[in-house]
Amino acid sequence: MHHNTPLISTIVVGLVLAFAFGALAQRLRVSPLVGYLLAGVVMGPFTPGFVADQNIAHELAEIGIILLMFGVGLHFSLKDLLSVRAIAVPGAVVQISAATLMGVAMGWVMGWSVGKGIMFGLALSTASTVVLLRAMQERRLIETERGRIAVGWLIVEDIAMVLTLVLLPATAGLLNGEASASTDLTALAWPLAMTLGKVAAFVVFMLVVGRRVIPWILHYVAHTGSRELFRLAVFAISLGVAFGAAILFDVSFALGAFFAGMILSESELSQRAANETLPLRDAFAVLFFVSVGMLVDPAIIVNEPLPLLATLFIILFGKSLAAFVIVRLFGHPTSTALTISASLAQIGEFSFILVSLGVSLSLMTERGRDLVLAGAIISIMLNPLFFAVLDRILAKRKEEAAPSSKANAPPREPLRTSVQRDHVVLVGHGRVGRVVAHALRVTNTPLLVIEDNPGAIERLVQEGVEVIRGNAAAPDMLQAANVGAARGLLVAIPDAFEGGQIVAKARVISASLPIIARAHSEEEIAHLKFHGATSVIMGEMEIARAMLALLDVDRAVATTEAGAPSAA
Ligand code: AMP
Repeated sequence: MHHNTPLISTIVVGLVLAFAFGALAQRLRVSPLVGYLLAGVVMGPFTPGFVADQNIAHELAEIGIILLMFGVGLHFSLKDLLSVRAIAVPGAVVQISAATLMGVAMGWVMGWSVGKGIMFGLALSTASTVVLLRAMQERRLIETERGRIAVGWLIVEDIAMVLTLVLLPATAGLLNGEASASTDLTALAWPLAMTLGKVAAFVVFMLVVGRRVIPWILHYVAHTGSRELFRLAVFAISLGVAFGAAILFDVSFALGAFFAGMILSESELSQRAANETLPLRDAFAVLFFVSVGMLVDPAIIVNEPLPLLATLFIILFGKSLAAFVIVRLFGHPTSTALTISASLAQIGEFSFILVSLGVSLSLMTERGRDLVLAGAIISIMLNPLFFAVLDRILAKRKEEAAPSSKANAPPREPLRTSVQRDHVVLVGHGRVGRVVAHALRVTNTPLLVIEDNPGAIERLVQEGVEVIRGNAAAPDMLQAANVGAARGLLVAIPDAFEGGQIVAKARVISASLPIIARAHSEEEIAHLKFHGATSVIMGEMEIARAMLALLDVDRAVATTEAGAPSAA
């Protein structure tokens, strides 16, 4: 039956197997990514049983990339992008060159020509968008300085890849040692100029035309009041611009989607737009991992252990080291350098495109291709591990730095403990936190806010409020806020699961600290209380009460009616 419905069977078998293996991986306490990749291996042509359509799997993965990049663009302004160009451009260029040189060196050992070595190195040089963004999103790093550098770096790599894809066919003869250098160099100038011109034309078009038209469309649809149309508009814009960019301007889908998102980032509807894409984005991102798994013949681990180790060494350590050195040279702190290195220590979709092009241009042997593909799957599997190690190192460094940092404190990403006492610690300065903070300031109550949104942080800093930047659930944040000496902790963020982590951590620090948390359902109240919240306020309940109060209905009746009062 599935012969006739390759699209349906690829989606269904892909999602079902990814779910099964992902749940198993979670159970075994490894990253679900490993499960998704294995699901791909099982569905792939190298293992017995059902074989899904690889081309379809790739296209589905591409949709995941589009939605991911659109989502990232929604949190990015042109200013953010330009603010990291000083490091992202040289960083990506030097790193790609370093990886390419290492590829040439490895090719030399393997007995490949220089051209083939360059091709091999190039295929190892660019990191996967999906893997990088997922790791960053999981840690809420996208909107931090480190996150911005990583995304900027990704954009530069993307443009470099577009150029490489255009230039490769033109240089294939030269790389294969067939044509003379002089004739080919002039032949190169034209495609290079054309491609750069098209990228520039796309950017200008988006900034001039897109910037006016796209927000207008979204606002118009929002005012129709149709949720369905709004959702549709978001998908039409993200996928439409990505596709149009690829067809008309020859830039990648990812770059097109990123710009579509970036243009909407200034609109107050951007958050709503982002939320609309989440479920589909996550489903397709999972299919990305499945499609990677499908490419790999597991036998290579047994057949070619040493070349595979060398390939992995380049991806995992060679590239990371290059990135680390560059980021440090630009004066960024070690924590930033380590995060960038960890995010780039993997390869993905670009490598797949490059190897298939390489093989078709006789610039890569099948053996080289298989090494790259196996290197991709293994590096993606190991990436969560890299981040776990990174978290450890950073936590340890903070511990070591804490006592001595006062003397020669590096001012960039300090986590010094607040000197405030008897203060209120407020987590989140959004719709809820803002109101609380205002009232506390008016009454001269000492206040410290933990917030991870740069816009909100900027406002707080201007108002002279002490802020700790970052995710309150991250290690050491609550210690830095000196919650042990605080008069209370207010957890005013909408996500009660993250809130639960914060409450639990604070409870460990102080058994007597009054902790007040925010919830949106009975389950969330129970969850937060279980982790140690003193009181939990449910937004919906307070809205109901306020409505009844306006009708002069007794508040006491309101709470008994609903069963459980939200504050206890
Ligand atoms: P709102 O839902 O409008 O009250 O906004 C919640 C605010 O809390 C936003 O400004 C978020 O950036 C912030 N926020 C959410 N989660 C966290 C967290 N884990 N740590 C710090 N700030 C957070």
